[in-house]
Parts: sequence; C-alpha cells; structure tokens
Amino acid sequence: MQVSVGKSTLELVQGDITQQDTEAIVNAANSSLLGGGGVDGAIHRAGGPQILEECRKIGGCPPGEARITSGGGLKAKYVIHTVGPIYRGGRRGEAGILASAYRSSLELASQRGIRSVAFPSISTGAYGYPIELAAPIALQTAMDYLQAHSEIEMVRFVLFGSSAYEAYEKALKGLLQSESAG
Ligand code: ADP
Repeated sequence: MQVSVGKSTLELVQGDITQQDTEAIVNAANSSLLGGGGVDGAIHRAGGPQILEECRKIGGCPPGEARITSGGGLKAKYVIHTVGPIYRGGRRGEAGILASAYRSSLELASQRGIRSVAFPSISTGAYGYPIELAAPIALQTAMDYLQAHSEIEMVRFVLFGSSAYEAYEKALKGLLQSESAG
C-alpha cells in the first residue's frame, strides 16, 4: 500500500529490512548499540562487522534517540540506529518514546541529506509493544514529519510477515479515514 503525504510517499511493504534499497534503513537497536536479536541481529549479520565497529565507537543511545553509521555491506548506504521503549503496560511514557524514536530517526536523515528511509516496526518484537497500538503511532509520526519535511521523499515501513503487514495496513486506513472525516 502506498499513499502521498504532501510531496512525499509513504509505503507499506511486507519483507525483510536488510534487503531494502532505500538510502537508509533503520535498526530497532537496544541502548548499548552492541547488537541483539530480531531485526538488530539480522542487520548486523547482513551488513557485516563494520557496522558494529562504528556502533562501538558511538558508545550507546538512549531510548527515543537515534544514531547513524554506514551501511557496511548492505544495499542501504546508512543504518540509523534508534532505540524504542520496552512496553510495560503503556503508562510509562511508551507512546512518547516510540514517536520520538521515529521522529529522531527522520531528523537525522534530514540532517544527512538522506531522501529515502525504511523502518521496521520498532518495539513490537522483543520489546513487547502491542502492534495494534504501535502501528498508528509509527504511521502518524511519519506522516506528520513528511507533511513538514518534503526533503524526505519516501518512507517505507517494512513489515516482517503478513500479520504485521495487515496491522499496519489497518492502522493506515484508520488514520486516513479519521483525517478525511475532519
Ligand atoms: P524490538 O526489540 O524493538 O521489539 P525486534 O527486532 O525484536 O525489536 O522486533 C521488531 C520488529 O521487527 C518485530 O515486529 C519483528 O517481527 C520485526 N523483524 C524481525 N526481523 C526483521 C527483518 N529482517 N526485517 C524487518 N522486520 C523484522
């Protein structure tokens, strides 16, 4: 599914983030930036040791912020590492931290002149954020950013598996509907 947001494009695809040809891909990292499982492990495996070497020099990243490295052997030239919230029931600022992780990643992309960015579904794996709650936050944050920043031409959400794709598709349709309702 693909929609226009201002002059830019927002896209949902089912697939593997490591295979994307966007200028940057985003890693759902942990605060140490020293690698982990899930999407993080997949990116380091596919991109090779150079990414981890650069992460070590950076020395960590607090939740809601983002850092950038090269893409190593990936098709993407850059990896933006961001840290989402660990979900603990929803009353500990998780939604704000999640939105901030997406926004910080996009701000970093803008600063570096990156025009296309692919995101995984941050925090909805090991960090336990229910995808039905995370998807509208992810999408709304991306749409708000694109509305104000046409220098980012394309944001793609790469959803791992059909149920994740369907959750994002449902959320996007819901947001578009509430937008057109006023
Ligand atoms: P977090 O710790 O932020 O929850 P995870 O990596 O555990 O991060 O999971 C985040 C999401 O990424 C999950 O929905 C998971 O299914 C998905 N995921 C795992 N591997 C990949 C991949 N190669 N490409 C895209 N998404 C992936």
